[in-house]
Amino acid sequence: MKVDVLGTEYKIEIHKFDNDVTLKNNSWAAYCCSDKPLIVIGDLDDDQNFKFHDDKEKDTYFKSCLRHEIVHAFLNESGLKDSAQSPNGPWSKNEEMVDWIAIQFPKILQAFREIKCEE
Ligand SMILES: [Zn+2]
Repeated sequence: MKVDVLGTEYKIEIHKFDNDVTLKNNSWAAYCCSDKPLIVIGDLDDDQNFKFHDDKEKDTYFKSCLRHEIVHAFLNESGLKDSAQSPNGPWSKNEEMVDWIAIQFPKILQAFREIKCEE
């Protein structure tokens, strides 16, 4: 898969946890690398690292990881990768904020569409 992020094409790949040192060493489920540019999601079929009750739960988690990493990609491509300094590091890399956008975005988009102000 590929996704266009503000004119930059990000490849989206599924990596086995044991074959990706970034996933493995950081115990991450996914990451975004603007240098390549690449979004990696851990192989959710790897039962040693991921446990799901059913395929629906796995699919929901996959999509939430993807949205989270795409938000990182948008912030990076907006020029906020390293220059948004605050005392605790770049605010644009604040995981709570990135997660909030990723989780709330579908609901915000639905609200925009309801009142036809999405563009
Ligand atoms: Zn993140």
